[in-house]
Amino acid sequence: MSSSVKSIVVLTGAGISAESGIETFRAEDGLWANHPVDDVATPEGFSRNPQLVYEFYNQRRRQLLSDEIKPNAAHTALAKFEHDFPGFFLLVTQNIDNLHERAGSQNLLHMHGELLKMRCLNSKMVFDIQEDIDFDSHCRCCRSPGNLRPHIVWFGEMPFHMNQINIALEACDLFVAIGTSGNVYPASGFYQTAKIRKAHTAELNLEETGSTFDKHVYGQATETVPSYFEALLSA
Ligand code: NAD
Repeated sequence: MSSSVKSIVVLTGAGISAESGIETFRAEDGLWANHPVDDVATPEGFSRNPQLVYEFYNQRRRQLLSDEIKPNAAHTALAKFEHDFPGFFLLVTQNIDNLHERAGSQNLLHMHGELLKMRCLNSKMVFDIQEDIDFDSHCRCCRSPGNLRPHIVWFGEMPFHMNQINIALEACDLFVAIGTSGNVYPASGFYQTAKIRKAHTAELNLEETGSTFDKHVYGQATETVPSYFEALLSA
C-alpha cells in the first residue's frame, strides 16, 4: 500500500448495482424505471398521489428482496478492501439498495436513504420493513394509517449524514467515485470538496461523465473495481 494514502472516501451510485440487475436512474429523460421523477421522487409527487409512490417503492423493494438480486464482484471488492486497508475508509452510497451491507461493508453511509426502511411522518421514527406498504398501513409508533413514508431522500430534500461526509471529504487523501453520473447534487460536488485538501480523485465508470477527476477508469464496475482496489492495496 502506498504509504501516502491514509484516508479514503468512496462514493457509489446506481452504476455499481447495475450488474446485479438493478436498473440505474436516467436523469436525461426524466424517468426512473419508466416513471417521471417528479411523480415518484419528490415530496410534491407523494402529496399528489401517495398510493403511486408507495407502489413504486414496493416494486423496487420486492425486486431487491427477490432471489435474483445479489451483491456483485464490485460490492465484494470494496468490502474486502475496507477489511484489508489499515487506514481510514468511508463508503458513501447514493444507492437505496442494501447490496453494500450484504457484501460486508462496515463504515457505510446511505446519503439518499434506504429502501428497506420507512419513517413516521409524525415522530420521525425510522422502521425496518420488508413488506409492501400502502396508505392504509398502520404506523408502528402512532398506530394510525397514512403516516408512513419511504425513508428515501427525494429531490428538494436534504441528504442524510452531510456533516460526517464533509468532514471525511475534507480530510481524505483519495476520493473515488464509482458508477455515478454526477447529475445529482450535492454528491456531484464531492470530488471538488476532496480537492480542497489536494486529495487525488478518481472516477470508475462505464463512460465519461464530463467531470474533471485526476484519473478516469472506464469499464464495467465488476472488472474495474476489483482491479483498481487490488492495485491500491499492493502499491
Ligand atoms: P445514475 O443512474 O444517474 O448514473 C449511473 C452511472 O453509472 C452512469 O454514469 C453510468 O455510465 C454508470 N454505469 C452504468 N452501468 C455501469 C457499470 N456496469 N459499471 C460502471 N458504471 C456503470 O445514478 P446516480 O448517479 O447514482 O444517481 C441516481 C439516483 O437515483 C441516486 O440518487 C440513487 O439514490 C437513485 N437510484 C438508486 C438505485 C439503487 O439503489 N441501486 C437505482 C436507481 C436509482
